[in-house]
Amino acid sequence: MKRYDLAVIGGGFAGVAAALAAAREGASVLIVEKSNCLGGAAVNCLVNPFMAYWTRVDGVRVDLSMGIFKAIHDRMKARGAMMAETFLEEELKMILNDMVEEAHVDLLYHAYIFEAEKCDGQITSVKVATKSGVVSVEADYFIDATGDAQLAYLAGCPTVLGREADHLCQPMTLCFRLGNVDAERFYASRERLQEAHQRALAAGELINPREDVLVFKTPVKNVLHFNTTRVVKRNPTDPEDVTAAEVLARKQVREIYDFMKRHADGLEDSFLMMTAAEIGVRESRMIVGDYVLTEQDCRNCVKFEDAIAACNYDIDIHNPEGTGTSHYYFPEGTYYTIPYRSLIPLEAENLLVAGRCISSDHGAQASYRIMPTVCCLGEAAGTAAGLAVRAHCTVREVDVKILQRVLTHNGAFVGV
Ligand SMILES: Cc1cc2nc3c(=O)[nH]c(=O)nc-3n(C[C@H](O)[C@H](O)[C@H](O)COP(=O)(O)OP(=O)(O)OC[C@H]3O[C@@H](n4cnc5c(N)ncnc54)[C@H](O)[C@@H]3O)c2cc1C
Repeated sequence: MKRYDLAVIGGGFAGVAAALAAAREGASVLIVEKSNCLGGAAVNCLVNPFMAYWTRVDGVRVDLSMGIFKAIHDRMKARGAMMAETFLEEELKMILNDMVEEAHVDLLYHAYIFEAEKCDGQITSVKVATKSGVVSVEADYFIDATGDAQLAYLAGCPTVLGREADHLCQPMTLCFRLGNVDAERFYASRERLQEAHQRALAAGELINPREDVLVFKTPVKNVLHFNTTRVVKRNPTDPEDVTAAEVLARKQVREIYDFMKRHADGLEDSFLMMTAAEIGVRESRMIVGDYVLTEQDCRNCVKFEDAIAACNYDIDIHNPEGTGTSHYYFPEGTYYTIPYRSLIPLEAENLLVAGRCISSDHGAQASYRIMPTVCCLGEAAGTAAGLAVRAHCTVREVDVKILQRVLTHNGAFVGV
């Protein structure tokens, strides 16, 4: 394989934005992705919609996620693939393919990284499992956008798992869709459904500990999206735990669908259209970086000098042990920023991390993990890698003021 300036591992929102941003700076870029498309959790786990990424100042909407996220959003809108912030993921797959092709970013699908070579703090190559055996990918810089800090972990950089006290992660959820629903009648009966659900949960009749039925409309008439299964106390990086989680979540899908057929209207002609290809992981490994972003930083709305992204999505913690979801909502007009240092893992000089696995505590991760924000983290990481390629410097030596200027010039909002 040809040698690249930058290899991005993982093609979710963070990885795609990183690759596009680095290519924009003139770097040669490869994305290595284990599945057959770009989009990550949005496509593999059917995660939808885009959670709120704006605030209001004097009644006027101010978007906090701009730049490449906005470019993707605009293309989706132009294709008729958006209904408010809910989107059609099949269109997303094609639009992301178009965007990386236009940017001359190379792709390697069906390729799973499982090993990293590191020498004197520099990752020199990663090993990838493919149908024809092991392929070695060489690059001057790497971005870990795997969601699970997989490359950082393989390269021996320190990582943490889940919340600090007991390392439990937020629950995993297998999303699913029902087709041919009479959506109007279903929504009209929702209160009755939620009451019946509360009673059944209290009586211990359900294996799914989630406190309510979480449902969203989709851009497709009479197709409803459910984000309502909940698997707790499983480690998303342990293959046996993830297997058990997938099996249990499918039982929960059947349970809740049968329950809804008994207690809601509008499902008489419905059918189970699809469950996601993969169970969704909200939280798993995170790197320990040059700065660990904390929940307190978020609540204090800290504006870091090296801010590269901004967010105000609520601190949304699905109980890692069972029933209940806690929220801390940011007051209107406020937001916090995310420092560049949280993208730099300890013990590596040519590696950046983007997405839901940057350096933070459990509480902060519960907020910035949403797709619009991770896209901005990817754009920042890719831009920084592009600047490092040009300056032949380590990721720590990137001039943050220049990084902020380039991001802002390209339409991103860095928050300071
Ligand atoms: C159930 C659930 C509901 C959610 N709800 C919302 C919501 O409503 N709105 C919202 O905005 N956000 C929501 N989120 C959060 C959001 O979806 C994720 O945090 C975000 O998509 C993470 O993006 P990412 O790019 O960091 O990682 P991912 O999207 O997970 O991308 C990582 C990519 O890396 C690839 N990869 C992983 N390991 C390897 C490997 N070893 N080799 C090669 N490739 C690899 C994966 O296949 C994947 O494509 C939800 C998450 C979950 C799980």
